[in-house]
Amino acid sequence: MIDADRNDRISEAVVEGIEALGSPQRLEILFALSEAEREHRRQWHTLTFTELHDAVAVESSSQFSYHLDRLVDQFVDETSDGYRLTYSGRKLIRSVLSGVYESTATFDERAVDGVCVFCEADSLVATLEQESFLVRCSACDTTLVNDCFPRSQSRNRSPAAIVESFGYRIWSSYVHLRGAICPECYGRVETTVEAHEVESQTRYTHGCSCSNCGFTIHLPVEVAVAFHPAALARFWEHGVSVLDTPLWELFEYVATDAFVTDAGPGGSDELVCTLSLGDESLDFEIDETLRVSPLRAPDQ
Ligand SMILES: [Zn+2]
Ligand SMILES: [Zn+2]
Repeated sequence: MIDADRNDRISEAVVEGIEALGSPQRLEILFALSEAEREHRRQWHTLTFTELHDAVAVESSSQFSYHLDRLVDQFVDETSDGYRLTYSGRKLIRSVLSGVYESTATFDERAVDGVCVFCEADSLVATLEQESFLVRCSACDTTLVNDCFPRSQSRNRSPAAIVESFGYRIWSSYVHLRGAICPECYGRVETTVEAHEVESQTRYTHGCSCSNCGFTIHLPVEVAVAFHPAALARFWEHGVSVLDTPLWELFEYVATDAFVTDAGPGGSDELVCTLSLGDESLDFEIDETLRVSPLRAPDQ
């Protein structure tokens, strides 16, 4: 986040909201509302003042009212029927339940399939470093994937299952980004296309960043092509389900020239990407907003 923004963002309301959570009684009230939702299988389930009071271990009504008042508006909605969680209240309880404030992320480094886009070695390893999940090439020591590692993601998963879950998580983020939606806060993301000189070749990446929360991600532009329906179908004809193939395995198609991306003709901002699988190839145009269009019908 940029400094000029900082004072605006750390408003009194934010500080008061975070302070309001620093009490076991108030967390208990949020838990009671969350449990009532689960018990009644209904979001926004509402409890009356008495029902809520009975559900928590706060002796006097005046103490209970004091704690409840501290939560109303930000974490609890007061309605004519009683009290229910707000969206923020529910998000907070889910964070606590997921163990994000107490568990430790653990993960043993392991080799993963795929090829380095820089040196083409098949020596990728997945590792955990400073609460980040990394896929790194052990031959040229380049980090290819870097994603935050929520502690809850390692719970009840073997190291292989953790790696697999990152594959799907990245695609779930990517589906949001296709709609210019930030996967963290659902604000709007801006997309830019960047060219990088790698081993006398030009590689293109697209960067997406959210001015709301600071989320950023960089992906090869070929990802946008791989998710075009015509490319998804062509991959499937060749036995590859793109959605079930993690990003680092898709790198192989970039490194081995199954994807070849060049600047469009006449110095335009468009890129042209050719996908060649077997003897067949498909050409796509990628515009500066990352919209992908096939340059000819797939069956021609
Ligand atoms: Zn490498
Ligand atoms: Zn965001």
